[in-house]
Amino acid sequence: MPPTRVIGIDAGGTKLLGGVVDEQMVVHHRVHRTWRGADRQETLDIFTGAVEEIRAAAPEVEVIGFGVPALVEWETGISRWSNHLPALDGVPFRDLMSERLGLPVVVDNDGNASMLAEARSGAAAGANHAVMVSLGTGIGGGLLVNGEVYRGATGVGAELGHVVLQLHGPDCPGDCPGQGCFEALVSGNAIGREGLLGAHEHPESQLGLRLAADKEISGGLVTELAHDGDPLAREVLDEVGRRLGHGLVGLVNTFNPEVIVIGGGAVRGGDMLLEPARGVVAERALPPARELVRILPAHYGDEAGMMGAALLAFDQLEAGL
Ligand SMILES: [Zn+2]
Repeated sequence: MPPTRVIGIDAGGTKLLGGVVDEQMVVHHRVHRTWRGADRQETLDIFTGAVEEIRAAAPEVEVIGFGVPALVEWETGISRWSNHLPALDGVPFRDLMSERLGLPVVVDNDGNASMLAEARSGAAAGANHAVMVSLGTGIGGGLLVNGEVYRGATGVGAELGHVVLQLHGPDCPGDCPGQGCFEALVSGNAIGREGLLGAHEHPESQLGLRLAADKEISGGLVTELAHDGDPLAREVLDEVGRRLGHGLVGLVNTFNPEVIVIGGGAVRGGDMLLEPARGVVAERALPPARELVRILPAHYGDEAGMMGAALLAFDQLEAGL
């Protein structure tokens, strides 16, 4: 008998990644989509189209798991609100997708899904108390409390990206009414924004030259230049890494986690981003919590959300649908 496989779909603020995942957590067929500017109907069609493409490679699949960048009511599968993908505001996601696809569907917040994957078989394996911080368009947050993913009273926790770090700070990007939120200061996009500021200030730098050549100054470009040894790009990662550390101080003091897992595309910055964060936590968090906590890159990198979505589908299969 072939091994059991499911489909895991991870949706972020600007893109979707999906695949067929087997019980050994091996991905067999990946699809990528983007939805910049797509309306609700188009966004839902992109979800359906991605799943149909994957299903063609794995027709035996019986359950589909989704991680979405939205406040999802765990019991009902209704997506109530989304900061970066307003097309998902007030969408009965689970029932609607199940009807469209003709299969059982399970849906959770993308940060919660990432936390699940890292806790079961990733960087937080063996821990009972852990925090997930995924740096992408914004911040995806997840919490592991007493070995279980914490979802709050109705399932819409734990939005760690909207803890306020700076009272009169910059407006939170997206639809959040807040100012100076963690994700207004730290994210993959924030690395790009800081890089753009640097490029304007230093037109002779590598970043400045890319800007002059009309290249988009993204978090990915800054990280790539930092790996090549560019001093300004490294400075940007150092600054955003220190801000990350200040955000983590509050989480260390509040939750006393054994591990904080940093995921999302920005984790490609590796220790250039994480070492400054560890330094701030060592200086500013309270003892003894700061001595216990380890700050680690996600084992599944920017695929943690997809892996978590697949695990939700496996759980559903095991529970007998
Ligand atoms: Zn916010």
